[in-house]
Amino acid sequence: MLPRVASRAGGCALLLALTVFQPATRAQTATPPKTRNVVLIVSDGLRWQEIFTGADPSLMNEKNGGIWDKEQELRREFWRADADERRKALFPFLWTTVAARGQIFGNQTKGSIARVTNGFAFSYPGYNEMLSGHPDPRINSNEFGPNPNLTVFEWLNGLPDLHGRVSVYATWQTFKDIFNVRRSNLPLQVGWDLPYRGKLTPRQELVNQLYRFTTRLDDGDVYNAFLQIPLLDSLREQQPRVLFVGYDLVLHSAHLFDHFVGELWNTLQGLSAYRDQTTFIITTDHGRGSGPIDWKEHGVEQPGSENIWIAVLGPDTRALGERTHTAQLSQAQIAATVAALLGKDYRQAVPAAAAPIAEVLASAP
Ligand SMILES: [Zn+2]
Repeated sequence: MLPRVASRAGGCALLLALTVFQPATRAQTATPPKTRNVVLIVSDGLRWQEIFTGADPSLMNEKNGGIWDKEQELRREFWRADADERRKALFPFLWTTVAARGQIFGNQTKGSIARVTNGFAFSYPGYNEMLSGHPDPRINSNEFGPNPNLTVFEWLNGLPDLHGRVSVYATWQTFKDIFNVRRSNLPLQVGWDLPYRGKLTPRQELVNQLYRFTTRLDDGDVYNAFLQIPLLDSLREQQPRVLFVGYDLVLHSAHLFDHFVGELWNTLQGLSAYRDQTTFIITTDHGRGSGPIDWKEHGVEQPGSENIWIAVLGPDTRALGERTHTAQLSQAQIAATVAALLGKDYRQAVPAAAAPIAEVLASAP
């Protein structure tokens, strides 16, 4: 029904073609990616405004922000008069490591625009767009059910060299639908599903108990801090080569999100299978409105929800930092970018998918 793997031409004709067109073939493979592993990290609904200008002073009070209930303390921690200092206070990993060694797109005040193109600007349509590589007007609800579209993760898992090395860790249990787990058979650790099975160590038993007995803010969404434990364990034990990480509740924890991403990066840099051969793509599924009320909302009724940001850090991505005056990017480009970083052409399998973000690849002009 759906193309599981790229179709391959076979036999002597291909061999002949390779012989005849050797110069072109060599040119294409002159810069094979150094990336062996790709991690796509998504922070649900984290606005580009916070990413590029830090904490918003008009939201740093209980009336408008709700979350800023310890106003004085928060101001001390996150408020700086200078926007560059302010964003670094809120997102130190992003604005030190990623800004120094990778690229960050989406600062609209500096002529870099990244957008969702699905026309809905909320969660499931956005995750479908970035994972399948194209928007789908049928997906108009978070309760849509199993995704009819192939995702780049499912496709990569069908390739012989990556089979069994693709995994998904996410707080939101709707990822079972988004990745169509029944069809894709991808291993998912999502929601409040117990992370450890079989014979458990005391530490694993303790974590399972926390999953079982902690009071839940949301039945369909586990805490980022709880997800982080089995996620970090899996790096040592399963060593996935293609990893999706979905964090949530950023309104309460934008700063902690940055901490978790930094922790993930530093853990990977400490493991030989990942060190200097892993690329992070960090992004969001949609934006939100602006102003004291609308920032809490998202979807097409809130102008601005279509705006996102995309950061990339890894051995194939030039250190250009915060990008200015770039061509407009779309969320749909993320799928083919994940594949291209691994030397794969996703659009062979899904021609409707958008092109990869050329500027973050080793072959960048
Ligand atoms: Zn969302």
